[in-house]
Amino acid sequence: MLKKRWWDKSVIYQVYPKSFYDSNNDGIGDIKGIVDKLDYLKDLGIGIIWLSPVYKSPMDDNGYDIMDYYDIDKQFGSMEDMGNLIKEGNKRNIKIMMDLVINHTSDEHNWFIESRSSKSNPKRDFYIWKDPKPDGSAPNNWKSIFGGFAWEYDDNTKQYYLHVFSKKQPDLNWENEEVRMKLYDMVNYWLDKGLGGFRVDAITYIKKDNTFKNLESTNNEELVNINGGSLNQKGIEDFLSELKKNTFSKYDIVTVAEAPGIPREKLKDYSGANGFFDLLFEFEHSDLDVAEDGKWYTPKKWTLQEFKDALFKSQEVYNDLGFGALFLENHDQPRSLNKFIKESDIGQASAKMLATIYFLLKGIPFIYQGEEIGMTNVKYESIEDYNDISSIDQYNSAINDGLSKEEALEAVHRRSRDNGRSPMQWDDSKNSGFTEVEPWLKVNNNYEEINVKNNLESEDSILNYYKNLIDLRRNSDYSDVIVYGKYIEFMEDDKNIFAYIREYENKKLLVLANFYGENIKVKLNCNVDKVLISNYDLTSISNDEVYLRPYEAVVFGVL
Ligand code: BGC
Repeated sequence: MLKKRWWDKSVIYQVYPKSFYDSNNDGIGDIKGIVDKLDYLKDLGIGIIWLSPVYKSPMDDNGYDIMDYYDIDKQFGSMEDMGNLIKEGNKRNIKIMMDLVINHTSDEHNWFIESRSSKSNPKRDFYIWKDPKPDGSAPNNWKSIFGGFAWEYDDNTKQYYLHVFSKKQPDLNWENEEVRMKLYDMVNYWLDKGLGGFRVDAITYIKKDNTFKNLESTNNEELVNINGGSLNQKGIEDFLSELKKNTFSKYDIVTVAEAPGIPREKLKDYSGANGFFDLLFEFEHSDLDVAEDGKWYTPKKWTLQEFKDALFKSQEVYNDLGFGALFLENHDQPRSLNKFIKESDIGQASAKMLATIYFLLKGIPFIYQGEEIGMTNVKYESIEDYNDISSIDQYNSAINDGLSKEEALEAVHRRSRDNGRSPMQWDDSKNSGFTEVEPWLKVNNNYEEINVKNNLESEDSILNYYKNLIDLRRNSDYSDVIVYGKYIEFMEDDKNIFAYIREYENKKLLVLANFYGENIKVKLNCNVDKVLISNYDLTSISNDEVYLRPYEAVVFGVL
């Protein structure tokens, strides 16, 4: 029997602070700006805000490179502002979930500055240092996630340090107990301030293959993706259970971890009441369009069946385990409308259809800022307009591999992380009401049409549809079915339909959606009752047959 928790019925909203709302007109979003918009979030019905990092940082990776875990970056505000956000959130029953980045720090963190100063410095072993090969080259052929060698040479001490991500994000040495204890103290320091929980960044990278041997290359390229030497390595479980024991387990919080590549049979070790975390972000469904080699310019074709399989196979596991972390977007992903829907069909119906199909699965739904108003990808004219380090790396590697500038830019248009990071579109005034000055990243050209103000004014807007979905989840007769109900497959192999049933204590609902733009007739083998929510007026049913219009999504109570 699942133990009920305070966050079971919550919906979590991710704020990317740099792009959310600029309260002091310096072109960069900030913590006070989030406080200014708390009533908007309360009205939407969300219970928890996941805040991407606001700690002090040189911003090489927009805050995922932390130089002081105990301070807030000036761009975002102060410790006082952070305390105020927690307090103002509490007043509105909204808890704050911070981002916890403990696989690496910034190279400007004091620990690293000391570590690199000499081989005998007491902090030397806080990071992973290795001698060069006899010819002076890097210790092995591991390739960083952001491209190039995962090793950076340091002339001062004539050794290389390891960085899974950018060279300004050196990896902490989790084998060192002192490092781990210092991290746990820091986690508890923040939890003592009354956070609702943590989103845990890149945590499956903390354990390395300590032989540091070369990885086998399958494509004759010199460098091989570091995952084979650093992702989900044997022994990581010891670190993760120690982390939980010393920190999370002492508080009544919710934790959600990034967990690419965890095999489904291991989900029970990682999530649920007895897992290392409460929830896990899995990425199979969101990275369907990314080729094996990780290069954006080789887009991968995907099918609805693959998309459904990715989500449904995990749902079967969560039936016994607890909840999935349900999401289509985050700050590392392009906008879901562009990813899943044909460009000419992007609009209200398709946006509401996508919302319906993921929101009512078994789990805790996440909304990424702007998703609730149907924001779409940006198409900046030049690579100079992009800020994201991985976009710049992907662009350069495409050019190196012989693509034209236009082709390289096209890949960036499709996959850039800046697609999700362009400023939030609040209204149709200059800079979309995000700021009064030049924003740090350009606003999407479509802001006059797609913005919060328009969505608030129109009764059948995407935003209002999200509100209704949240209301259905939190306050309706079907709330327990949506939150605790079992996932049951329905028309799993259909090539056009995305459907499933949820059941709890003999009460059932059916989610039925046409994933494409053609009219379609569906024969139901169950008796449906009333429509709980739909993105069209009057769904028509006759003799067990439902006629679904383009992108129609309808949720029925089932008799
Ligand atoms: C975050 C990214 C970040 C990386 C390194 C992640 O997975 O979501 O935005 O670049 O970790 O911290």
